[in-house]
Amino acid sequence: MPSEFTGKHVTVAGLGVSGVPAAKVLHGLGAHVTVVNDGDDERSRAQAAQLEALGVTVRLGDGDTLPEGTELIVTAPGWKPTKPLFTAAEEAGVPIWGDVELAWRLRGLDGREPAPWLAVTGTNGKTTTVQMLASILKAAGLRTAAVGNIGVSLLDAVTGEEEYDVLAVELSSYQLHWAPSLRAHSATVLNLAPDHLDWHGSMEAYAADKGRIYEGNHVACVYNVADKATEDLVRAADVEEGCRAIGFTLGTPGPSQLGVVEGLLVDRAFVEDRHKNAQELAEVSDVNPPAPHNIANALAAAGLARAFGVSAAAVRDGLRAFTPDAHRIAHVADVDGVSYVDDSKATNTHATEASLAAYESIVWIAGGLAKGATFDELVAGAAKRLRGAVLIGADRALIREALARHAPEVPVVDLDRTDTGAMLQAVQEARRLARPGDTVLLAPACASMDMFTNYNQRGDAFAQAVRELGA
Ligand code: ADP
Repeated sequence: MPSEFTGKHVTVAGLGVSGVPAAKVLHGLGAHVTVVNDGDDERSRAQAAQLEALGVTVRLGDGDTLPEGTELIVTAPGWKPTKPLFTAAEEAGVPIWGDVELAWRLRGLDGREPAPWLAVTGTNGKTTTVQMLASILKAAGLRTAAVGNIGVSLLDAVTGEEEYDVLAVELSSYQLHWAPSLRAHSATVLNLAPDHLDWHGSMEAYAADKGRIYEGNHVACVYNVADKATEDLVRAADVEEGCRAIGFTLGTPGPSQLGVVEGLLVDRAFVEDRHKNAQELAEVSDVNPPAPHNIANALAAAGLARAFGVSAAAVRDGLRAFTPDAHRIAHVADVDGVSYVDDSKATNTHATEASLAAYESIVWIAGGLAKGATFDELVAGAAKRLRGAVLIGADRALIREALARHAPEVPVVDLDRTDTGAMLQAVQEARRLARPGDTVLLAPACASMDMFTNYNQRGDAFAQAVRELGA
């Protein structure tokens, strides 16, 4: 079937999880595809061989030269906008799409009615919220999937066999940067804190890219009442006529908001006469785990689902059916009256702040690669709840200094080792500091790659160490 891609010269920038499938799909649509890739390692060569066998041209070791005749670039989301390839493309007037833009444009190519997107972004909580949303939509009997970072890939969701009524889509700031024509049914920016600023160039540019998620929304722009920057983004967006701004709050909701009243999640947005009425959606205890930031995620998911017309009962059933992914505030065990919680996924200070706010008295295990972060605000905010701290990893001195400045009375154990036994020792030290009723919380506020392959391995090492304590 001919399409706008037939005969077109498309350059795919970057092999890997988005580039290889993009090249295959475009090739299948009759485009002349050239893949350019910075690396020329064994893995790239294997991927290149696979594509070359199909008839795709691959250039390894040079991701910066624009191939002659390129009419369109489809880039891996992580490639920096300042790369010479993109400068050359801009000079030549060649459009640049990311994987999300490509998926968006491929919707309906097979003649099927495309499924609307309910889209989620934010500095933290995206994956959790998208999964909660998919769970709610499923409870409503809709054919759906959590799409993006987890579960089904976007390209598969729009080009595969499976038919969907609606998609719950997670989008990163990088992906939004390269997705100029995306128009979601409804969308949310969960929160906005400095992250990935080296990529975006500035906080303003980062926020502007996140804000693109609201552009052209049809039914609702869902924002976080406690994070004014998200509301500002809604105001700045150009949306479809009739599209509403819907807030979510951990407090009592005003009209056009979802919030919490006496232990209940309540909707004052999608009800008749919202000035007088409210609809109970679920109990706070239906949210797993019922930590404040996670209740906010549940309200955002509920807001998007309600915008799509889902019943209150389905919101409750979907939240009850939801189980969080591993390493996100996962309760590992209770040992001697102390609770051990793995939030290894808290790889930045914003996530850790939320996680520390969820417990009364904490022995905090933290540290790793700081990625340029500072810890003063985080430590000052949590000082009162800290029973003690155990620090690990390359940049632990930064956290130690912040503790000395803002919580000098809190005992700190500084572990000067990065071998695989370090986590066991960290957990043993934490046990020593903890008293019954406390929570030992792994919420490192740092990336893990100095000591571990990734945050999963770090969380597994923690859980294993806790099990050894209990043995
Ligand atoms: P993302 O997909 O945005 O990385 P996840 O749902 O995987 O988000 O959660 C990442 C980390 O952020 C977890 O450690 C979690 O404790 C924390 N987190 C989740 N939701 C929020 C939120 N709404 N605000 C702040 N931190 C959050």
